[in-house]
Amino acid sequence: METTLKVKLISHTMNPELVIATAGKLCYSPSNIDDLMEKQTEESIEKFVNMITSIGHGSVLEHTSFTFGIEGVSRSLTHQLVRHRIASYSQQSQRYVKEVQFEYVIPQDIKNNPILVESYKNHMEDTQRLYDEIVDKLMYDYIYEEDKYGKIIDIQLKKCNIDKNKFESWKKENKDNEKFVELLRESYKKLYSALEKKAIENARYIFPNACETKIICTMNLRSLINFCHHRCCRRAQEEIFNLAWTMLKEVEKVSPLLAKSLGASCQFGPCPEGAMCCMMPFEKKR
Ligand SMILES: Cc1cc2nc3c(=O)[nH]c(=O)nc-3n(C[C@H](O)[C@H](O)[C@H](O)COP(=O)(O)OP(=O)(O)OC[C@H]3O[C@@H](n4cnc5c(N)ncnc54)[C@H](O)[C@@H]3O)c2cc1C
Repeated sequence: METTLKVKLISHTMNPELVIATAGKLCYSPSNIDDLMEKQTEESIEKFVNMITSIGHGSVLEHTSFTFGIEGVSRSLTHQLVRHRIASYSQQSQRYVKEVQFEYVIPQDIKNNPILVESYKNHMEDTQRLYDEIVDKLMYDYIYEEDKYGKIIDIQLKKCNIDKNKFESWKKENKDNEKFVELLRESYKKLYSALEKKAIENARYIFPNACETKIICTMNLRSLINFCHHRCCRRAQEEIFNLAWTMLKEVEKVSPLLAKSLGASCQFGPCPEGAMCCMMPFEKKR
């Protein structure tokens, strides 16, 4: 099933503007920190934040961070996202989470062509079928072709406290049963979970880049500025471009002042893309 982008700012530094203004002011003031914080006014905070973001006193901006919950994005997107190294990420694992019915992203250019969309969706459904088939077949093989798999089954029987002789008779009874996997789940739940985990970490190799994923990402403001410079740019790929602008709008909801420092590179200076320039610059912010 097709999925769509969902972004939520799930947390951020308390009083982010005050923290930045105070940290910035401390660098140039003989006062103590309590005094500096008490004396801050809305005007002084705005003045300092604007000054710090415009002169590029980047380290001060690192005191404020934003945590985004991101869903409905492709693995292709998260591969690009995690290239932004100055950030923290936690991503749903395909090793540990079984894709019962995986969702996927369809790029707009493909969506514009109904024939391509149909083939695309068919490919996704075929992939899901093959994934399920691989998982079931591997679980069967771990039990019935044990010599090929380094005795995974022996280890798991020990870990799950299962009597080997009893299990051997279960094996014989169910060897040709089409519902082998379901029966294993009913009879030996713990063993089933362990073997399934092993099977899905192999089966996941067939998933396409389009496969939906979920990720939580925390960036400090300095890193977020760099991320937006690159990814709010029209040269960025559509999906991450949309993500970057949505993240910017989430920050805008809690701090219009800090959001003023976010946007494509061209909004703050000359386009850095050279010959690759899109020739459609966004409105300048500074
Ligand atoms: C349009 C576009 C096309 C791209 N195409 C490709 C591609 O074809 N192939 C590809 O591999 N990548 C590609 N990238 C990814 C790009 O090269 C960066 O890896 C990505 O944008 C992260 O940027 P960053 O390094 O500035 O961010 P971060 O990793 O968050 O780093 C932030 C800043 O910290 C500093 N920094 C971080 N690590 C180091 C370090 N080790 N040494 C020195 N300074 C450091 C730098 O100043 C850096 O700008 C593309 C990106 C864009 C936007």
